[in-house]
Amino acid sequence: MDLTSYAELAVLLINSPERLSGLEGLRLLLEEGGRYRPGCRITRSDLEALRDLREELLIVFETAELGDEEAVVDRLNSLLIHHPVQPQISGHDGERWHLHLTEGGRMADQYAVGAVMGLATMITDLGVDRLGLCQAAPCRRAYLDTSSNRSRRYCSERCASRANVAAYRARQKVGQ
Ligand SMILES: [Zn+2]
Ligand SMILES: [Zn+2]
Repeated sequence: MDLTSYAELAVLLINSPERLSGLEGLRLLLEEGGRYRPGCRITRSDLEALRDLREELLIVFETAELGDEEAVVDRLNSLLIHHPVQPQISGHDGERWHLHLTEGGRMADQYAVGAVMGLATMITDLGVDRLGLCQAAPCRRAYLDTSSNRSRRYCSERCASRANVAAYRARQKVGQ
């Protein structure tokens, strides 16, 4: 089980505020995160819980951007207390027995456990500086920097080239 891949759930939630406007949007978000199971119950309380979680996770990324590692750890520790892991051994689709971390509770709780455990694993395995917010203003989407030299600064290729064009134009202006 690759726990760092669960951190993508945190990124997806932060980057999808428009999905949190209603239950249909939430269903799409869960599908995008591979967390949707046909027939699972999604309610307004899930929606509210995930809106709150999104705010909390965004603050974690903003705090990481400021380089305040202790504050990031404090925030993640308190999220870990609020979203306890309820692991279950599972076997399905012909796979070997393996652990599922996120079986218990509401849909929102399952999502939260995955996102928070993913971030906790990410920073303990790779470092707090792996959590980033896009530097191509005004974007500010979240990303995980898994590059070998920790050089990532943008959420996407699109933002990287937009930032490069802006920097080029700025240099041209200085030259005139
Ligand atoms: Zn499984
Ligand atoms: Zn971006």
